[in-house]
Amino acid sequence: MSVSVACKGLAKTYPGGVEAVAPIDLTFQAGKTTALVGPSGCGKSTVLRMIAGLEAPSRGSATIDDAPPAETLRRAGLSIAFQDPSLLPWRSVQQNIELALDLARRPKVASEIDQLIQLVGLGGFADTRPAALSGGMRQRAAIARALSTQPELLLLDEPFGAVDELTRAQLAHDLPGIWEARDTTTLLVTHSVTEAVTLSDRIIVFSARPARVVADIEVDLPRPRPSQIARAPEFTEIADNVFEALSRGVGQTLPNAAQ
Ligand code: ADP
Ligand code: MG
Repeated sequence: MSVSVACKGLAKTYPGGVEAVAPIDLTFQAGKTTALVGPSGCGKSTVLRMIAGLEAPSRGSATIDDAPPAETLRRAGLSIAFQDPSLLPWRSVQQNIELALDLARRPKVASEIDQLIQLVGLGGFADTRPAALSGGMRQRAAIARALSTQPELLLLDEPFGAVDELTRAQLAHDLPGIWEARDTTTLLVTHSVTEAVTLSDRIIVFSARPARVVADIEVDLPRPRPSQIARAPEFTEIADNVFEALSRGVGQTLPNAAQ
């Protein structure tokens, strides 16, 4: 089962007056992967937190299948992996995943947990505690944990920031297959245009703060997408459109645009 997400006039001004998100209207189709890109500090995480029900909107609403996020949370249908992975330090990688499954009241199937740990390239580190892992490895553990409960809605907030290039390419290759097989609705915040084009069906480009939608770009590339696809003209064309929208969103023109 997968879910759709709707943002209607969704806006956030933090106490103290920081306007993080201008009213935005967006719907995310069930089973699709959408990348959210925009300059640092523009309000991307705030949007994601409001969709997750972790932050109250100042105006408007974010709903999951027309219901408040709390309902999806209640049935453990929602997983989040943040840039700063919140793993429990006294639990190993495997135990962190097991806890997520316990909290979500999902069965702990050893072979499935093992498969996920392998998938994110942490084979051999199942019994290791977070303190003994690198930043990138902790992020990968958090991704495995987010996937373990087989969420209907997966929210990823710059989850690959500290992950090395090679592992990142491997994840970019493997993850969409999992999302598709499970029909997961995925929202991915990233500042990498290449990652956005490689992973998503659609890219939303936000302006500088407060976040407004500058562009809504369809990524009509066949799947699976091998890393070489980044050199294809169709890929480059989409990436150029994203860059152009990003520049427009911060009120600049590209140094060598329109050639
Ligand atoms: P992004 O994820 O795009 O980098 P954020 O959504 O984290 O941006 O932040 C958007 C703006 O809101 C920033 O100016 C940030 O400083 C501010 N902000 C974020 N969280 C809070 C908070 N809890 N209280 C006050 N201001 C915040
Ligand atoms: Mg952020």
